[in-house]
Amino acid sequence: MTQVPRPNSAAARDVRSQLHPYTNPLALEQDGPVIVTRGDGAWVEDEAGARYIEGLAGLWCTALGFSAEERLARVAYDQMRMLAFYHPFGQKAHLPGIDLAEALLAMAPVPMSKVLFSGSGSEANDTALKLIRFYNNALGRPEKKKVISRIKAYHGVTLATASLTGLPNNHRDFDLPMPGILHTSCPHHYRFALEGESPEAFATRCADDLEALIQAEGPETIAAFFAEPVMGAGGVIVPPPTYFEKIQAVLKRHDILFVVDEVICGFGRTGNVWGSQTFGLEPDMLTCAKQLSSGYMPLSALMMTEKVYQVIRDNAGRIGILGHGYTYGGHPVSCAVAREVLRLYEERDLFAHAATVGPVMQKRLRTLADHPLVGEVRGVGLVAGVEIVRDKASRQPFDPAQGVGLAIGRNLHRHGVITRVIGDTVAFSPPLIITEEEIDAMVSRVARALDDTLAWCRAEDKL
Ligand code: PMP
Repeated sequence: MTQVPRPNSAAARDVRSQLHPYTNPLALEQDGPVIVTRGDGAWVEDEAGARYIEGLAGLWCTALGFSAEERLARVAYDQMRMLAFYHPFGQKAHLPGIDLAEALLAMAPVPMSKVLFSGSGSEANDTALKLIRFYNNALGRPEKKKVISRIKAYHGVTLATASLTGLPNNHRDFDLPMPGILHTSCPHHYRFALEGESPEAFATRCADDLEALIQAEGPETIAAFFAEPVMGAGGVIVPPPTYFEKIQAVLKRHDILFVVDEVICGFGRTGNVWGSQTFGLEPDMLTCAKQLSSGYMPLSALMMTEKVYQVIRDNAGRIGILGHGYTYGGHPVSCAVAREVLRLYEERDLFAHAATVGPVMQKRLRTLADHPLVGEVRGVGLVAGVEIVRDKASRQPFDPAQGVGLAIGRNLHRHGVITRVIGDTVAFSPPLIITEEEIDAMVSRVARALDDTLAWCRAEDKL
């Protein structure tokens, strides 16, 4: 994306030393990385001093942006000096973990009983998968173990959570999904509705698909259903009205646990504290990470209802100890920083700010809907997707081999916007602190990048 790295530059050292996630290794060798050195507010700066609006809050996580936060630095420093490591294994506890667990339970979208911390979104979801097995074994129904997620879901990259993820890149070449993890239809009306099918009718069909899958497998074999309120890394897919209402009715009918993955949606992203509130969800388990610590420290949490906790508790005599836990799960420095992050959210009324500027971003991005390359603009709150098409009328996408997604990425970069192009969709999930002026600047830069891409498509005969 930049230029051939000079020998012994940081870029050349990077190419020699690191294998990058979600990166084409050949492109990295050729062009080197973009080395981001600092940031302020919704902006970051690279080694050469170029500034970019961070349209994805890093990886959908830096709610507070990139400015130095002295209070958080102080809390981390103080915790490092007071107790740099401890853990909750073997009936121990530390104060930052207790404080944060209490704060999370007080914020939860439905009454939750307990919090189990881990270090990443993947680990939180993996933990949920394991507790689901535990739960059904404990209830004496060992056959009730299969788990359903959705095509285009993103729930992580461990073997089990990459299986839950419903994206070809995460399955192909890794021999996934694992047995017992199934995928039902993706609630993306623009892509998957039938000609003339209303959003509500489409939602009914998605719920019918789920019912049919459960019936085909046998309801007594289905343990849980995982869903993100808004599907993020699968292309920012907002479910149609009535979708979750109908899905939850199916789950209740068959005694299937509902795990809501709030790793992206949690902490103000969709205009409420939780995506569960935006879409009326009643999770049995809820996972969160990312904005829990504004992305500043690795941390995730799994919350569970009393119903789930009781089953674990009732087996205390049989199991001796719960055989699960990560060394860094609920690290005291992470917990202390996250607790202070939640205080900052509250003091700055950040969720209310996000709920105010979110609709502004949605409105501004929708002005791009007339662009010849744009098929659909969708989103809610401060998360959005702009889907690129080759032909607006037929909604025909570009062949990935044409490299149009890469060209858009290059042009966005040139115009000073960092975001992710996911398949055919440009994703937006800026820091929650973003202002209306910055949203305007971001969207006009995106418009120029789309214009440049269109000119390139025409010059290169891609249309
Ligand atoms: N769930 C969702 C909804 C996510 O977006 C992500 C990460 N993008 C994960 C889980 C996995 O989190 P992590 O990368 O921290 O393992």
